[in-house]
Amino acid sequence: MFHFDNSYARLPDRFYASVYPEPVEGPKLLKFNEKLAGELRIEVDLSDPDRLAATLAGNVVPQGATPLAMAYAGHQFGNFVPQLGDGRAILLGEVIDEHGMRRDIQLKGAGPTPFSRRGDGRAALGPVLREYVVSEAMAALGIPATRALAAVATGEQVYRETVEQGAVFVRVAASHVRVGTFQFFAARGDNDGIKALADYVIDRHYPELKTAENRYAALLQAVAFRQAELIARWLGVGFVHGVMNTDNMTISGETIDFGPCAFLDEYHQMKVFSSIDHGGRYAYRNQPGIGQWNIARLAECLLPVIDEDQDKAVDVANTVLKEFGERFQTAWIAVFRAKLGLQTEVDGDGELVQNLLSVMQEAEADFTLVFRGLADAADGADERFLAQFSDPSKAAEWLKSWRERLAQEGEADAGRADAMHAVNPAVIPRNHRIQEAISAANYGDFSFFERLLQALEKPYEERPEFADYMTPPTPDERVTRTFCGT
Ligand code: AMP
Ligand code: MG
Repeated sequence: MFHFDNSYARLPDRFYASVYPEPVEGPKLLKFNEKLAGELRIEVDLSDPDRLAATLAGNVVPQGATPLAMAYAGHQFGNFVPQLGDGRAILLGEVIDEHGMRRDIQLKGAGPTPFSRRGDGRAALGPVLREYVVSEAMAALGIPATRALAAVATGEQVYRETVEQGAVFVRVAASHVRVGTFQFFAARGDNDGIKALADYVIDRHYPELKTAENRYAALLQAVAFRQAELIARWLGVGFVHGVMNTDNMTISGETIDFGPCAFLDEYHQMKVFSSIDHGGRYAYRNQPGIGQWNIARLAECLLPVIDEDQDKAVDVANTVLKEFGERFQTAWIAVFRAKLGLQTEVDGDGELVQNLLSVMQEAEADFTLVFRGLADAADGADERFLAQFSDPSKAAEWLKSWRERLAQEGEADAGRADAMHAVNPAVIPRNHRIQEAISAANYGDFSFFERLLQALEKPYEERPEFADYMTPPTPDERVTRTFCGT
């Protein structure tokens, strides 16, 4: 079924623990992503869903798999933990997709591993469905993210704050190497390990750097740039990751670990959803700063291999950290210029965006609908934009300043509304809809989950049959807190 070629398993023993999934009582296929399976050249017999479920739940280990739990460390809310590792995720192996790209197939919730600490190695249905929905929504929005291949019920209970149904999430990633993977070796003073890991990720994710004069310095810069660009994309769709610990930041530049994440409904730059993020460390607007902080932790790991002369290595690292800030700014303004329908660059564009965001924040306006409405306004239909503001006078004033700016665009007017609709989504995975899908699924009704997935397939289109997925929550539908995906 899978054509495995497992490069991570060929790394030295200390990179991982070999471990088999722990079979579950009653595997049942909840959702299988056929389209993605096709891209991954996975051959499945859909006429035998029980066998497929048994494989995806880890009961039957497919031929060619070399199941393992990856070792990693990480800063969790700023505190360093020298050993985390896959405590409930098992990497089955890697496949080469139709574009020749190597992708990990991982079972999340497949049972205990040597890294489980006090955890049970399992995942609950709710968080599995949340990760399924949000990762597929991200992909449809065009934002790099790990993907969902399947969700399988285990037929077992898991004990969290309450008793919940167990499930396994089958995750696909460009790789699961994280900033925390480097930290694992750095914490042990294992420079050979750092070098081997760096060479591995250059080979896998940044092959163009192989010939760089200083490949490890180049790697640090390349990872920094991908993360800066990724975070700019998050801000462009109002995404709050929620738990940007260094073990939840990939080296590939894909968004990973959709736990207490959420998309903004009403805009506030300090919005936090995670029930455990008391200080707002991972609030919406703190994300670029935290990204840079995480890259600084990666830089510390790479110092010994960047240059024998540590003063020189520190200079390199500091330069990259500065460049991260610049690259983020460039990416951010590019994202928001596109959202505003601007094709040229004029000084003061950043201020124009900030002014809009201030008016939105003051009015608690819906992030998604404001920008969607602005795209309509490019065609002269201001109603939807203005309707997002309880007192539209400031918004109307801002529209005027926007139109003055558009006048400077020259002849680029034609097609502006279309271009704006193509970057300002109509449908995002709103929290109350995810909650609704999870609640129904907990009672065995997956129709809300299915319909939500369908609505999110074409986020830039307004399809009348999914109009109800565009509306923000009513006050009593509002979800203010999401919980860690454990
Ligand atoms: P996460 O919050 O999912 O990013 O996980 C942080 C760390 O806790 C990772 O090392 C996970 O493997 C581990 N972990 C989370 N939940 C469990 C669980 N139920 N059993 C064992 N380990 C877990
Ligand atoms: Mg994690």
